Amino acid sequence: MADQKKMVESITSMDVDFAQWYTDVVKKAELVDYAPVRGCMIVRPYGCAIWENIQKILDEKFKATGHENVMMPLFIPESLLQKEKDHVEGFAPEVAWVTTGGAEQLSERLCVRPTSETLFCDHFAHVVHSYRDLPKLYNQWCSVVRWEKTTRPFLRTMEFWWQEGHTVHETAEEAQAETRQQLEVYAEVCEKYLAIPVIRGRKTDKEKFAGAEETYTVEAMMHDGKALQSATSHYFGDGFAKAFDITFQGRDNQLHHPYETSWGMSTRIIGAIIMTHGDDNGLVLPPAVAPIQVIIIPVAQHKPGVLEKAEELRQKLSAFCRVKTDVSDNSPGWKYAEYEMKGVPLRLEIGPRDIEAGQCVLARRDNREKTIVKLDELETKIPELLQAVHDGLYERALKNRQNRTFTATTFEEMKRLASEESGFIETMWCGDLECEMKVKEEAGLTSRCMPDEQKHIGDVCPICGKPAKHSIIWGKAY
Ligand SMILES: [Zn+2]
Repeated sequence: MADQKKMVESITSMDVDFAQWYTDVVKKAELVDYAPVRGCMIVRPYGCAIWENIQKILDEKFKATGHENVMMPLFIPESLLQKEKDHVEGFAPEVAWVTTGGAEQLSERLCVRPTSETLFCDHFAHVVHSYRDLPKLYNQWCSVVRWEKTTRPFLRTMEFWWQEGHTVHETAEEAQAETRQQLEVYAEVCEKYLAIPVIRGRKTDKEKFAGAEETYTVEAMMHDGKALQSATSHYFGDGFAKAFDITFQGRDNQLHHPYETSWGMSTRIIGAIIMTHGDDNGLVLPPAVAPIQVIIIPVAQHKPGVLEKAEELRQKLSAFCRVKTDVSDNSPGWKYAEYEMKGVPLRLEIGPRDIEAGQCVLARRDNREKTIVKLDELETKIPELLQAVHDGLYERALKNRQNRTFTATTFEEMKRLASEESGFIETMWCGDLECEMKVKEEAGLTSRCMPDEQKHIGDVCPICGKPAKHSIIWGKAY
């Protein structure tokens, strides 16, 4: 028990200092280590296994909707990056440059990709000639580099891992449908696999991606009431195609510019999982992406037959879930704390008395509920309990968002809510950048999105009093 105490006491309570709690969890759950380069992270095996599970889910969904994976170069020549004006302005401040190769000074600087629109566009210009070549539905899994000033593991690092989808289409309608389709893929992955409720919506012009006509987003609320942009999907119109001179011969025999999209989800989503579901005992993982779904802890493992039974159960369970047995000589108490810290959804305890009775104890990580289960019922009980953990996590996160979502009809009320509460504030908005800037300066809030589910909260913008165009959600964001 002394060991268990040590583990739990070593993380800061989330109510005392949420930021420190987060840092403690990513370290103690062995997700990351700090890298020798400032602002970079080493993703350790346990963190990597979570990302691999997310990757598998996304990759299958991309392929099911007709997308193919490709691999683009790490470097972008400066001249290529310069081609789309808004895009280069958006990314230039955080680009890393390669100026020498070996002993040679390069005649043209190479940028380390912060995102790959320019590379895809250059390639599309080579391979798209006719409407018969369209659409091209590509995705790549890679890391990108952005020279960030302040960094935190998963949430903001100079190098991070992601997927970036890039597609090119014959018509604007097709490209717009693609943008919305991929946003829905992200929303589904967040809600049905990661147990994170999200708000689907559109970004304001100020917050949209550099070079995009429209940026759609799925926004999640973390346990502390702050927002996290969980994934984005961009519609480019034909702006990039014009800048990169991508043309195709249409069905009318005329030359046209095609329409493009891009969309991405990154390792940042692991930060969202931690901050949505975690508690004072550490990580709590949604079962769909947990590297270990069931941890078997043998109790009194020195007694005859216990380890054998644990191994027999492990083999049986591995047919339908990700399972591990901890046979180390650490005390059961230490093991309980260790796998709670690592967020394993279910713990299976089995000792001599359980074996005699033909049963075991299953303990849920999310609410610590214990159930005695007959060994011959595990095949049905475990999937049921894993689903119950998922549902429990989703419900808790949704309740937190509901409790922390406020509406305001005056600017005074917005400012009061922003200073007294941590959460989302929903208001009407006239659509002017000026009002958005004022909210940022005077209330410290950024616009999260204009939600798909538009509400009627009033007729006027609370900031300027002019007629309102949209309902909009404001918040403080990671
Ligand atoms: Zn206004």
